[in-house]
Amino acid sequence: MHARALLALPLILAVTALTPSGSAANAGVAALQVGLRAHGLYVGPIDGLDGPGTAKAIRRLQKRAHIAVDGVVGPQTRRALGRFARHRLGSRRLEIGKAGWDVASLQFRLAEHGFPSGAFDGIFGPHIDGALRRFQGWAGLKEDGVAGPATLQALRAPPATIPLPLAWPLTAPVLGDRFGPRGVSWHAGIDLPAPLGTPVYSARSGEVVWAGWRDGGWGFLVIVAHGRGERSMYAHLSRIDVRVGVWIGQGVRVGLIGATGDATGPHLHFEVRIRGASVDPLRALP
Ligand SMILES: [Zn+2]
Repeated sequence: MHARALLALPLILAVTALTPSGSAANAGVAALQVGLRAHGLYVGPIDGLDGPGTAKAIRRLQKRAHIAVDGVVGPQTRRALGRFARHRLGSRRLEIGKAGWDVASLQFRLAEHGFPSGAFDGIFGPHIDGALRRFQGWAGLKEDGVAGPATLQALRAPPATIPLPLAWPLTAPVLGDRFGPRGVSWHAGIDLPAPLGTPVYSARSGEVVWAGWRDGGWGFLVIVAHGRGERSMYAHLSRIDVRVGVWIGQGVRVGLIGATGDATGPHLHFEVRIRGASVDPLRALP
C-alpha cells in the first residue's frame, strides 16, 4: 500500500491537467499551497497558480527537510509535507473527517465549479460537506456528501455557463476583485466599487425573489430570478427599491450602492448563479 502510494507520487504536478474553464489554475497546485501554508512556509494566496511565491516555498520546504533543493515536487518533497500529502485525489473516498492533499484538491475543484466552501484548508468538515452535497445535487448525483468516482468524474466536466448575455448593473462599472481565488478562499462574484448611492440596475429581466437583509456578509441584498435556474445577486446595497414577487425588466433600478454586510467600502458584489452554481459574470457581460 505504502510502496504503491509512493510510486504514484512523481510528476503529480506535471500530469494534472488544466482546469475545464481553461484557466491556468490547478487544483494540485492549490493543494500544495494549502500544505505549504499549513507548514508555515507559504503566506500567499491559494490560487492554484505555480508562481514564484509557491516555488520559493517549495525550496524552503526542501531546505528544511534536507533534500535536494530543486523546486521540483517529487516523492521526497511530498513526503516532507508529512501526512498531509499522503493521498492523491481519487485514491480514496472523501467524506467528513478526512484531511489532506486530496481534500484540498476537491475543495478547489468544487469552488471552480461554483461551490466554494470558505477558506481552503484541506480539512473535510461541514463547510466542504455542504458544498459537496450542493454540487452533487447540481450534477444530478446522489447527495450523500461522499466524493467517490462518480463525483470526481462530474468535477472533470466544465463548470456551468451563463445561458444568455447580461447587462452591466452599473452605468459606469469599474472592475474590482474578480471571480476566482482571493486570499485563502474563493470570491464567488465580481466587485464593482462605486460611490455610495450610485444606482444599481437589474442585469436582466426577471422576478425579484429576495429583497432585504441577508446574514452571512451580504448586507442588504436583492436577488432576481431569470428563469432556467439563473439568478443574479446584488449585495451590500444601502437602499432597496424593489419588492419580492415583482417582475422587473432589464435595467430597472433595484437599489443603491452601499457598504452593508461584510464590505470594507462602498461597492456592489455582483454574483450570478446557475441552479446554485456561482459562475463568472464577466463571461456574460459585454
Ligand atoms: Zn465581492
